[in-house]
Amino acid sequence: MIEPGQTIGILGGGQLGRMTALAALALGYRCHIFSPDKDGPAKQVTPLATDADYDDKAALAKFAAAVDVITFEFENVPADTAEYLAALKPLRPGASALRIAQDRIKEKDFLRSIGVATAPYRAVGSEEALRRAMDEIGPRGVLKTVRMGYDGKGQMAMRAEMDMAAAWQSFGSTDGILEGFVEFACEVSVIVARGENGKIATYTPVENQHVNHILDTTIAPARVSPEVSMRAEAIAHHIAEKLEIIGLLAVEMFVTHEGEVLVNELAPRPHNSGHWTIDACYTNQFEQLVRAICGLPLGSPAHHSDAVMKNLIGTDIAKWREAANDPLQKIHLYGKENAAPGRKMGHVTKLTPRR
Ligand code: AMP
Repeated sequence: MIEPGQTIGILGGGQLGRMTALAALALGYRCHIFSPDKDGPAKQVTPLATDADYDDKAALAKFAAAVDVITFEFENVPADTAEYLAALKPLRPGASALRIAQDRIKEKDFLRSIGVATAPYRAVGSEEALRRAMDEIGPRGVLKTVRMGYDGKGQMAMRAEMDMAAAWQSFGSTDGILEGFVEFACEVSVIVARGENGKIATYTPVENQHVNHILDTTIAPARVSPEVSMRAEAIAHHIAEKLEIIGLLAVEMFVTHEGEVLVNELAPRPHNSGHWTIDACYTNQFEQLVRAICGLPLGSPAHHSDAVMKNLIGTDIAKWREAANDPLQKIHLYGKENAAPGRKMGHVTKLTPRR
């Protein structure tokens, strides 16, 4: 067990690292943040920091020597970096979960191999392959980059009547995946924590609404039938077990009008759709991550309040003032200076206590 007083190393200096560090500090751990930026959200809350690039082996070795366990706040940790660190200190979740979550094709192949449904998909590396894939799984699709896509970056909506040559050219990557377009009734996500002893704690499924491909609102619990909710939880539980996650796994899913649940994406880390747990659950996702990677028993994921979480994106950060007038809204700001469009600056969570 990693005991309070010992040091957790976190790769990544954004808001997820900040909120993980805050939860770890509350439990008496120290946190050391490794990221290229000097004054990111995470580095503002703990004095232990390394400012270096993720491929700087000398800096990684020093960091590993200074910490007792390592986790990350983003899944695009370079594979070499993950393997290098994992050889020096426990890396949780491990390099294999990262490998799968970083690659949309590996991810979907893995999901299918364990009996989990996804949208139909094809790897597309050329214009010819794109035409073939559209014939097979069109007439509507979403063309995505296999790696490094997030918040809708590297994505293109496709229709059969489009000029495929122009579409392929503007996509600009040769490493693509075409997914069949899912006419979903809603999007949900489930966050699961899995401890060192294999015990699992599952948060209630929540409903996610996106604006411009960025998460805008999370409604907890999701407004779906008890059957859909149970199926979504069971799927997330199954994936966490098969991946042997130690830490957190967020599973994003589509719910179709027929009540089918299709997995869209996996993230082996804290997730924006879990921010509501900070104020509405007995144990929030960040504390749960700390407990899992340190070998502590997991806490209760049950919620004492229903919640609606709204992201404050770009200049929306000014809305914190309005939220402050409502005693049941909790405000979280990430300490970022530049409110650029699309940038996640904070979030507010409106609580409705359960009776
Ligand atoms: P992703 O980066 O895969 O999480 O996609 C971002 C958002 O784009 C999702 O949350 C959906 O709203 C939408 N989207 C992605 N893939 C599909 C799909 N195959 N069918 C319909 N909508 C999609």
